This record gives sequence, structure tokens and C-alpha cells, in this order.
Amino acid sequence: MITATAAKIVWLLGIVGWFVIRYPFQRRARYHGIARSTGGAGDRVALVIASVGQFILPAFYVAVSLGAGQPLPGDYPFHPVQGWLGVVVLVAALVLFRVTHKQLGRNWSVTLETRTEHKLVTDGVYAWVRHPMYTSFLLSAIAQVLLLPNWIAGPAGLVGFAVLFFYRAGREEALMIDAFGDGYRDFMRRTARIVPWVY
Ligand code: SAH
Repeated sequence: MITATAAKIVWLLGIVGWFVIRYPFQRRARYHGIARSTGGAGDRVALVIASVGQFILPAFYVAVSLGAGQPLPGDYPFHPVQGWLGVVVLVAALVLFRVTHKQLGRNWSVTLETRTEHKLVTDGVYAWVRHPMYTSFLLSAIAQVLLLPNWIAGPAGLVGFAVLFFYRAGREEALMIDAFGDGYRDFMRRTARIVPWVY
């Protein structure tokens, strides 16, 4: 059995895991020089919207709902099957999130930048899709829908993800073409964006 309370706590633990995975890369990133940057204000706004949908709003919901102990507006009855599916999808998201950080290594950055001595990564999970870290964001947004039985807090992550992804993907690809030319164009021809063979 998995209860709604357990599912909400699992979701919170997932967020903790997310920050634990990211932290060392964020720390190290400060020491790696920046070659090109196309992030700008729009990218920051998209990041804030994604953070509200994927962290702030759902974390607020979990805190209030665990504290209240009674249904909140937008709550619907929780089904254990959605809970178990949510756990599986969340674990997959975190594993993929960790693998993409390991693979990008010093080429990783929060916003749209290329590093000095940036290397194009095309192997491992990057042979399947060219934005596997964004695939992991999508998986985590799906896990949020499954683990939080609320019509607002659940889907908010998908909305946040969509805003960031559709703002970024084209700009990131343009930046990478700028930096790697045909190397990246070939990589684009071989790979889907976030769902292998589909998109
Ligand atoms: N879109 C990728 C990476 C996200 S991190 C993913 O979803 O996995 C964002 C930074 O990663 C960008 O600023 C870019 O400089 C870098 N990047 C993106 N694709 C890359 C690749 N294939 N190899 C190396 N660096 C990459």
C-alpha cells in the first residue's frame, strides 16, 4: 500500500535528491570559464516559472496539505497505483538527472552558456536524445502529477517544464550550432530532442 501522505513525502524526498545531485556541479561550475552566453533575462524568467511549477508551488501544497490533514481545493481521491507509478517515474528521473550531470561534467551550466574548452557530448544517454537532462525534468513533472493528487499542484510541473523547454530548446540548439557547427548539426540529425524516436 502507498497512501497519499506517503506519496507527498516521496515527492519531497525527490526534491531533496534533486538538489543533492545538482549541488556539486553548481559549485564546480563557478571555476569553469564561459565562452558564449545566450541566456539573458528571458532564460532567467523561464527558469523562475519552471521553479515555481516544479518546486515552489508543489512544495507549498505538500506542506499545507500535510499540515491541514483534510482535503484542499483541487484535491481528488488518491489511487495507490498512481503512487507506485509515481515512485518508479521519479526514481527514473533522478537516475537520468545524475547520469546527464556526470556525462556533461564541466560542460554543465544552469543557463545557456558554452564553456571555454567546451566538449560536445554525444555518447551514452546523449546518443538517444540530445536533451536528456530535459527528459529527466519531464519525467519528474510526470512523477509530480502522479504523486500529488491535486488538480493544480500536480500539473503545475508540466506547465513549468513546457515554458522552460520551449523557450530554451531552439535557443540552446542555435548556441550549440554556433559553437560546434556541423558537429552539432549532425548530432541533431541523429537524435530526437527528448523522447527517443518520437520527438
Ligand atoms: N540540453 C542538455 C543540457 C542541459 S544543461 C540536456 O538536456 O541534457 C545546459 C548546457 O549544456 C548548455 O548551456 C550547453 O552549453 C550544454 N550542452 C547542451 N548539450 C550539450 C552537449 N551535447 N554536449 C555538451 N554540452 C552540451
